[in-house]
Amino acid sequence: MVLRLKGNEGKPVAYQVRILTEYCKGCELCVAVCPKGALEMSDELTDLGVRPACPKADAECTGCTLCYQVCPDAAIEIWETAEA
Ligand code: SF4
Ligand code: SF4
Repeated sequence: MVLRLKGNEGKPVAYQVRILTEYCKGCELCVAVCPKGALEMSDELTDLGVRPACPKADAECTGCTLCYQVCPDAAIEIWETAEA
């Protein structure tokens, strides 16, 4: 599922992947599945002592949703954003 910002209909879009770190258990499945290599594991620990996944600074997310589909904890959102 790709989330769309209201008012963005019909405009060229880019995609942004977001990790809901409070739900992430650090299994790394999303990192392994991403065909663009857009995700990595953070060096920061969550309150649960987990290193969560996070988007790389230069992430080029295509909105393919593979990471969303593979995440066992519904910890990923993919957003359409207005293209710069
Ligand atoms: S939506 Fe696709 S390209 Fe974007 S981070 Fe997830 S697996 Fe990678
Ligand atoms: S697949 Fe989900 S739970 Fe596993 S590291 Fe990625 S975001 Fe976290």
